[in-house]
Amino acid sequence: MNPTRLLLVIPCYNEESILYLTYSKLNSYYNSIKKQGLIAQNSRICLVNDGSRDKTWDIIEELCERDADIIGVSLSRNFGHQSAIMAGLEHNIDDFDCFITIDADLQDDINAITGMIEKHGQGAMVVYGVRGDRSSDSWFKRFSAEGFYILMQKMGVPVIFNHADFRLMDRRVLKELGNFKEINLFLRGIVPLVGFRNDKVVYNRLEREAGETKYPLSKMLLFAWNGITSFSTFPMRLVLYFGLFNFLVAMAIVVYILFSYLVGYTVPGWTSTMLPLTFFSGSNMMALGLIGEYIGKIYEEVKGRPRYIIEKIVNE
Ligand code: UDP
Ligand code: MG
Repeated sequence: MNPTRLLLVIPCYNEESILYLTYSKLNSYYNSIKKQGLIAQNSRICLVNDGSRDKTWDIIEELCERDADIIGVSLSRNFGHQSAIMAGLEHNIDDFDCFITIDADLQDDINAITGMIEKHGQGAMVVYGVRGDRSSDSWFKRFSAEGFYILMQKMGVPVIFNHADFRLMDRRVLKELGNFKEINLFLRGIVPLVGFRNDKVVYNRLEREAGETKYPLSKMLLFAWNGITSFSTFPMRLVLYFGLFNFLVAMAIVVYILFSYLVGYTVPGWTSTMLPLTFFSGSNMMALGLIGEYIGKIYEEVKGRPRYIIEKIVNE
């Protein structure tokens, strides 16, 4: 059997401080697995510039000039991690057999790629990279990330525990993935929905060697929230339960008021007016906000805007 043509897709957002290092590591690793015959000679690497404001694109262009195996794709602005990945994948879909996505900082161990290719050779159409050891992450990152996976699973989102966006996909899977038209891309949730035979490769997550995380807490929370509301109507159901509970409490209060009236205790207290008023208007607001969240999602999807816009391509 011929070795597979592999495309490595790397989203890059303001990564000037680490790109050269990433390139040199990847280049030597790529050459070695080519030599071993694990992947085809015409396997390549696609660097996607996600509207960086630093020198990232200049560096990508320079690398493209130096190395014909690099494909540079530049988006017209910052579309976000998930869309940048899709841009790199979809643009090159017809030229490769399988695709691996990995972050520009190589925190996900590139040596796991060998295992992924082997599993693909054994028939797996999707191979998930799963973080075994997270000791390089801060206590907070680990706690919040793992809590996130558990919460997602509890709400019925089919995420793989401790798997981020380091994964191998066969071209067939990618073709089917293209039929998922939603703009709010949450690949971790969508890829398992595509199905097909899958496998896992466990690796240890390393530390970022240069630059800083592009996922500060606010962005991380937004990402998690997007993931939940894109996949699960559980929060809406929760509001329904909450509303039901409120209704029962209100009924009890009505009984209490009627009873007070009947026994002649008619001096109306300030507390008994204000308390329910505040409580119920507050919970109403909350429920409305949550419903608004979902309507906002519908609004975004209905518009059907493009996920990304490619401005330039080098070494096509
Ligand atoms: N990234 C991107 N667009 C964005 C934010 C991030 O393409 O708007 C890329 C970033 O360059 C990196 C990957 O997504 O290759 C993951 O980001 P990072 O390593 O900062 O996240 P962390 O590992 O801290 O969760
Ligand atoms: Mg990282």
